[in-house]
Amino acid sequence: MSPPAPALEIVGATMFGLDGLFEQRTLVVDEAGRFAAGGDGRLVLDAAGLWAIPGVYDCHSHITWNDFHHDQRERKSQAQRDRETADALAATLRGGVLNLRDAGGAPKSLQDAVASGALAGPRLQISVEMIGATHAGTADTMRGHVEAAIGLGAQWIKLVATAGSSTPGDAVLASNFSEAEIKAAAETAAEGGARVMIHTWGGDSADWAIEHGATSIEHGIYLTPTQVRAAAAAGMTFVPTITIYRHVRDMVLAGQLDGVAFGRIVAVIAAHEDVVQLADREGLPLAIGSDFTTPQQHGTNLIEIAALIRAGIAPVTALLAATAHGAALFGDADGGRIEPGARADLVLLSADPTEPATFEDPAHVVGVLKDGRLAYLDPALPRPTPQERSHS
Ligand SMILES: [Zn+2]
Repeated sequence: MSPPAPALEIVGATMFGLDGLFEQRTLVVDEAGRFAAGGDGRLVLDAAGLWAIPGVYDCHSHITWNDFHHDQRERKSQAQRDRETADALAATLRGGVLNLRDAGGAPKSLQDAVASGALAGPRLQISVEMIGATHAGTADTMRGHVEAAIGLGAQWIKLVATAGSSTPGDAVLASNFSEAEIKAAAETAAEGGARVMIHTWGGDSADWAIEHGATSIEHGIYLTPTQVRAAAAAGMTFVPTITIYRHVRDMVLAGQLDGVAFGRIVAVIAAHEDVVQLADREGLPLAIGSDFTTPQQHGTNLIEIAALIRAGIAPVTALLAATAHGAALFGDADGGRIEPGARADLVLLSADPTEPATFEDPAHVVGVLKDGRLAYLDPALPRPTPQERSHS
């Protein structure tokens, strides 16, 4: 008995490979939703003139947040918030994100709803709750917070170890936690099968996170060269979030945000670009994080690839950050590459992915394949058609 014909054949696209090279070739997707080495697909998708990259990993977002201000969110009914979350998930998948690590907010029920297919969206890894300044105490109380998060289904323990853009001057590097608390968080996470992602702009908390086994550094704006080298040596991943600070800057300029000085946010953006270049030079792997929190932002996540390129990162490195490095951070051995046997997650683009402008307009995402199934195809493109078999 011959095996069933592969489900789909994608013809004519220029594919981005793990080696950083682009190649025009035919892709075959099998019945199990994986890339296959060969065969004729029953359906053929004509992708001539398009570009293809693996499904993107957004390693830091807040998919259940749809208001920039927390109090606005609190005023909405649960039903309305659920609707907005469903919309955010759909928009994010449509925007080319196939895997999303939620940095606080998403519950296990949401992760399950996507996994079962009840909701369309990127596969989720979740931290459920953020552990921040209000949770500061002792190593013992930290253990309790981490165990509670794991009990709610967290794969990631999100520590918010420093403050944000509204904190004046050097105080922004003051750690919310003691070294003992950060150590306890990492140990308790490991015991429960979870890992630590730490929001830190730098300072002591970054040192302690590196020393005691956190997995990823979020934001990291004022990391020093010594810290960047130590994080690389410890096998960590750096998740910068450049775009969101540009949005904050624009909100300050438009008078929509009180409490953040304009000069300060401009300095933060410049420092963030510098530290990204430093990480790249020192071999600290970059992954992408949008840190998005509004309906206008959800779905535009790939702009962070453009932000890396505009910050001076080689386009190929930025594409690897968005794909293979994200897969590595997720512990996802089946994704992040276009290769026989890998999960057939694919983003089709109408423009050259080495150009940042391509990712600055979500309309350039014209097709999304999740598990070998078309999750989105631009209405202007030809539909997949049945293969014409030659009978000669
Ligand atoms: Zn965040």
